[in-house]
Amino acid sequence: RAKEQGKAGHHFFETALDELAQHRRQLETDLRAAIRDGGFDLHFQPLYSLTEERLTAFEALVRWPHPTLGLVAPNDFIPLAEETGLMTQIGEWVMREACRQAMAWPEPLSVAVNLSSKQFLTPALPAMVVQALAMSGLPPQRLEVEITEGVFAANVDKTLETLHALQGLGVRITLDDFGTGYTSLGHLRLFPFNKLKIDQSFVHDLAPTGNAHAVIRAIVTLADALGIETLAEGVEETAQLDVLRQEGCQQIQGYLLSRPIAGEDVATFIREQRARAHVIRLRA
Ligand code: C2E
Ligand code: MG
Ligand code: MG
Ligand code: MG
Repeated sequence: RAKEQGKAGHHFFETALDELAQHRRQLETDLRAAIRDGGFDLHFQPLYSLTEERLTAFEALVRWPHPTLGLVAPNDFIPLAEETGLMTQIGEWVMREACRQAMAWPEPLSVAVNLSSKQFLTPALPAMVVQALAMSGLPPQRLEVEITEGVFAANVDKTLETLHALQGLGVRITLDDFGTGYTSLGHLRLFPFNKLKIDQSFVHDLAPTGNAHAVIRAIVTLADALGIETLAEGVEETAQLDVLRQEGCQQIQGYLLSRPIAGEDVATFIREQRARAHVIRLRA
């Protein structure tokens, strides 16, 4: 009896694993098709400077409208794209498309583009960026690239070389999701970051009382001392905004200001912002 049950259990797992493998193969096939057919979209989320009280940039966030699964979020396909070696091509499309769209905005705001760790460490990365800038005509000063702490794990020398190559072009570098990964404080001194994005988890923990304030304060103080800008991600509530302002955080991004919006709506958003329609509720 026990033996039979064991066997049935074994069967169950085998079937489940088969299905998973099949699902993965199907997704990979679909990803290849999307790359071939230009089947991705970019959404853009505004970055807002509290100190200057203005929009400074939009972050490009890739979306995959899948024929049967609907809109697939990046966290649900980027890991597979990385494993199957498809991320370089997707990343190249994102970079070109983000630069191209930014050129059509009614104001010369910056565009922030995420780079996966693997993508960041490919030898051809600086050349790819140069090409995207040249093709679009976007001035390098309007491009910010966002990397995560995962890159340090791979190779410090290579990371430094690539960071310097990009900054040599005039491109700015942001460390994304700060506080969740590997970064030792020494890394902040070693690597020439222009901006730190404080991870959403710290922001969501912010309450009028509690010690999450202290964490934000420490990050802002350290970054200030190193000449690095700070941005808080995932700001959803006015109460969080109040704390961030009080602690001297310079920029914010989050649903409070806007969710990511479709590329075709960015120009309108910028014009409305210029007319002050959105800023008002962020004013102290
Ligand atoms: P990220 O770069 O940290 O981007 C911020 C994520 O937080 C986005 O999720 C955004 O929609 C979400 N978000 C923004 N404001 C709020 C808020 O107030 N509350 C909450 N709960 N969430 C907020 P999304 O678009 O699903 O992207 C997830 C991650 O996928 C990104 O995190 C980034 O690491 C990666 N990603 C997105 N696009 C690309 C890309 O083109 N290339 C690469 N390599 N990675 C990308
Ligand atoms: Mg990002
Ligand atoms: Mg982030
Ligand atoms: Mg993130």
